[in-house]
Amino acid sequence: MILIKQADVYAPNHLGKCDVLIGGDKILKIAKDLGEFQLDGVDVIDGKDQILAPGFVDSLVHVTGGGGEGGYTTRTAELDVADTITGGVTTVVGALGTDSVTQTLEALIGKTKELNQRGINAYCYTGSYHFPAKTITGSVDKDIMMIEEIIGVGEVAIADHRGSQPSVNDMARLASEARVGGMLSGKAGIVSIHVGDGDDELALLHQVSEQTNIPIQQFYPTHINRSEALFKAGINLALKGGYIDFTTSTNEQILASGEIDAPQALARALDAGVDIANITMSSDGNASLPLFDQQGNLIELQMGRVTSLHQAFVSAVKEHKVRLEDALTSITLSPANILKLNQKGRISEGLDADLVLMDEKSLAVRSTISRGKRLIAS
Ligand code: ZN
Repeated sequence: MILIKQADVYAPNHLGKCDVLIGGDKILKIAKDLGEFQLDGVDVIDGKDQILAPGFVDSLVHVTGGGGEGGYTTRTAELDVADTITGGVTTVVGALGTDSVTQTLEALIGKTKELNQRGINAYCYTGSYHFPAKTITGSVDKDIMMIEEIIGVGEVAIADHRGSQPSVNDMARLASEARVGGMLSGKAGIVSIHVGDGDDELALLHQVSEQTNIPIQQFYPTHINRSEALFKAGINLALKGGYIDFTTSTNEQILASGEIDAPQALARALDAGVDIANITMSSDGNASLPLFDQQGNLIELQMGRVTSLHQAFVSAVKEHKVRLEDALTSITLSPANILKLNQKGRISEGLDADLVLMDEKSLAVRSTISRGKRLIAS
């Protein structure tokens, strides 16, 4: 058991100073004051000067490594669980990217299982950038229904020269398969969408939702802060009820080339009237951060980090004056709801004890607790 005494609790709504008792992998009790526990084996954490938040939910991480767009030497490393712990992330969703030949779904599921065994919560998507989606069992719905770790499909690439240029019919069929697989298994069945820098932006998703019975909420498009034009298209989609995800991994050169920093995009989307329930941030961790010249040749490659999610949260609060509850919601409750992870992304009695303690002033991560255990980054 763990007793966290008198932390300022954001659930992510603000509950104020509370005691939180954890037993096994669950949150047992939340109260203003639970008194002193003298029992052996109760690990008491003094929450003074700390805020207690739900563990962060990172909806897109290339857990097996990504990249490869500049040849075999440009493939990136796989996720080190220490990055999640130092970054306060207790739930990740893994995905393949451009390379679905040397990167396989079998390796992705193996890595997802490893992360679960190391104490965090990991899920993954079947498929990749590629269409038709590559699968384990032969179909997307069967993968979602039969493989525990798989909760959706993606990240399917649209508006990108690296994608398979799916048609409206292609995308509608894929989304319906994921949707039915999700319904039958009680999972999200979400279609994660990688949006590239093509001029067609989100047009394909609008066409599917307008021409078929697939709701716009079946799609979870990411990299919406890639450019001013895509950001505007994203606001338009979100005001129609769609979900938008901002990527927190970036660098100076990418920002200089027109990307909007994720915390700034979050602030601007809220100002534009988008409901926080429709906005998330994810790290795109372990993806390559490729820079292409005008001919499409790769000129530089860096790697995204899961820890950028926490950095973006801090920047949103400190530099962009986003309410702490809203900034937190975009990396906890909103992604958990979109991904139908009902035990995750919030602090409430009976739910999984996935928690992060942060310094009340600097918001630096002090402790990460996942499924009731304090994790130490080694
Ligand atoms: Zn992507």
